[in-house]
Amino acid sequence: MNTGNKVEIKVVLVGSVGVGKTSTVLRFIKDNFKEYLETTIGASYMSRNMTVEDMVINYNVWDTAGQEKFHSLVPLYFRKATAVLVVYDLSRQKTYEDAKQWVKALRNHAPENAIIALAGNKLDLANLRDVETEEAKQYANEIGAIFRETSAKDSTGIIQIFEEIGRTHLNRIGESRRADRRDDNRGHGNVGVNAGGHDADSDVPNLNGGNNGTSPPPRRICC
Ligand code: GDP
Ligand code: MG
Repeated sequence: MNTGNKVEIKVVLVGSVGVGKTSTVLRFIKDNFKEYLETTIGASYMSRNMTVEDMVINYNVWDTAGQEKFHSLVPLYFRKATAVLVVYDLSRQKTYEDAKQWVKALRNHAPENAIIALAGNKLDLANLRDVETEEAKQYANEIGAIFRETSAKDSTGIIQIFEEIGRTHLNRIGESRRADRRDDNRGHGNVGVNAGGHDADSDVPNLNGGNNGTSPPPRRICC
């Protein structure tokens, strides 16, 4: 969704239980961290605005549950995602392997042009590191994903990874606009490219009821 200098995007967080998805969302939305969090049930979403390159980006951030029993729901949340943020815990190799499985799943269920971002969370526990930075960086490169090591606990990299997602999206819509203009100039009319645009997901259940009250009304994808 893009109106004037405001753009709306949907970012979905996935990853194993306990890697810090909810903490990442809380840090980004409320600049807050809690040592003890209740396990997320199903999914919930929160939103905030952030200015990136003179554009106000309205981030609708979906936090999902990592438990197996909720896996079948996740494809629902991938629908119309502008970006998927796959989180692992850099102090637990298994969660990195799981992250790779999430990348496979999102390829099957998320929009083809969805931005992929990989976050190695708990950087404050680098002394317990179980996943090497270079390895994850190389993997992210291979799959064309944004990559950052983050700490929801001490804030490292959280704003930055969301900012980079926003910037990537803005670049894409800039490119598709330029392509539209080229087509217009050639007299082909408007092809109506949707560069990862977002439609509010009123048809997706919010099982936590965890919306902060800023839920947007249903919208149509604009050009
Ligand atoms: P989720 O299951 O992926 O949503 O994970 P949570 O956000 O619920 O976090 C699981 C546990 O890890 C909680 O005890 C958090 O306080 C903790 N945690 C989350 N992020 C970090 C981090 O960056 N560093 C450290 N040390 N702990 C974290
Ligand atoms: Mg959670």
